[in-house]
Amino acid sequence: MSFVNLRLADPLVRAIADRGYAQPTPIQTQAIPLILAGRDLLAAAQTGTGKTAAFALPLLHRLSASRTGGPNREVRRPVRALVLTPTRELAAQVGDSFRAYGRYLSVRTATIFGGVNIRPQIDTLRRGVDILVATPGRLLDHAQQRTLSLADVEILILDEADRMLDMGFIPDIRRILALLPRQRQNLLFSATFPDAIRTLADGLLNQPAVIDVAPRNTPAARVSQQVHPVERSRKPALLSHLVQAGNWGQTLVFTRTKHGANRLAQQLEQDGISATAIHGNKSQAARTRALADFKQGKVRVLVATDIAARGLDIEQLPQVVNYDLPHVPEDYVHRIGRTGRAGRAGAAVSLVCADEAPQLHGIQRLLGHSIPSRVVDGFGPIGSYSPPLAATPRSRPRQRPGR
Ligand code: AMP
Repeated sequence: MSFVNLRLADPLVRAIADRGYAQPTPIQTQAIPLILAGRDLLAAAQTGTGKTAAFALPLLHRLSASRTGGPNREVRRPVRALVLTPTRELAAQVGDSFRAYGRYLSVRTATIFGGVNIRPQIDTLRRGVDILVATPGRLLDHAQQRTLSLADVEILILDEADRMLDMGFIPDIRRILALLPRQRQNLLFSATFPDAIRTLADGLLNQPAVIDVAPRNTPAARVSQQVHPVERSRKPALLSHLVQAGNWGQTLVFTRTKHGANRLAQQLEQDGISATAIHGNKSQAARTRALADFKQGKVRVLVATDIAARGLDIEQLPQVVNYDLPHVPEDYVHRIGRTGRAGRAGAAVSLVCADEAPQLHGIQRLLGHSIPSRVVDGFGPIGSYSPPLAATPRSRPRQRPGR
């Protein structure tokens, strides 16, 4: 299968070639024809599968193919496609993707999110935008200030819907839905399908096609996983040791709390390892700078909370560390999905103290197997820690997005 078979417009095929993509990913192969045909879509996919291009390419194709609406519409240039994302970083990345894929088309994309001055966004909206990528809160601010009309939206995309749920955005989404025309195409992308997302999907989607490409609970095969049992108080020293002894380059470290992220970044710096923290309490400018420094290799370790890390697209990330295990087992899969992308090898290491045994058990159940465990020399023995519990595979390990 090549992109040419997907019958995308030539300017899109050229832009894809510029990006160096040789062939579509599974979600692209499945989703693109359905979206081009105007179907509603319920898609199970997580970051790293190529999901952004899976909706961006057919959407650009459709919008550029149907510049309908006559001269009046051309003058007003209303928003025709709305993409909602949970985080600012994801909005920025999705907006960049639309601009990259649409570079040979005259379709305008704008990105709007909170935490930055609203004035330039108002000016951009006034000049006219075809595709709007937005986080829910700031979008509603614009709607309330009447600096934006959503009355002409033809296609709605909810990206990472489960994360919107986690972040408490579902009421905002319902408010936004009330501002849209009834007749439209709807696409919902989510990594997991808790009940609240199913309910939302039921009310939103019209006889959707269902695709499920990403085995969410199966991390990329090329990610090696390892647990290092350790006393909680020795975690910072163990992390510094692993980074230095293993000569790790770009390392993404997950902590559960924002405070913990800050403290750990400071500790690493004290140990002579350049590190920075990224989380929701930081200003947008600080988050953007931290990510840029990490991507450029100026900072060796990026310490992040789950929410801040969601949607970060960092190419070739070799090493992910779970400094704390997440409470939600699915987050473990999301976290380690940050490495081993696009067929490259990656390593995911978890520092696990005795009181995290229940979380480890939950993760192993979800994976359906246990994770190899090894005490690092000089960092054991560890008090009451019991070896990883034998995995009890779920009888039905994967939740399907359909019913
Ligand atoms: P996403 O799942 O949308 O976050 O995309 C993950 C990464 O895959 C991004 O860096 C994309 O640029 C890249 N990507 C998307 N589609 C393809 C493709 N067909 N071939 C190779 N890389 C791709």
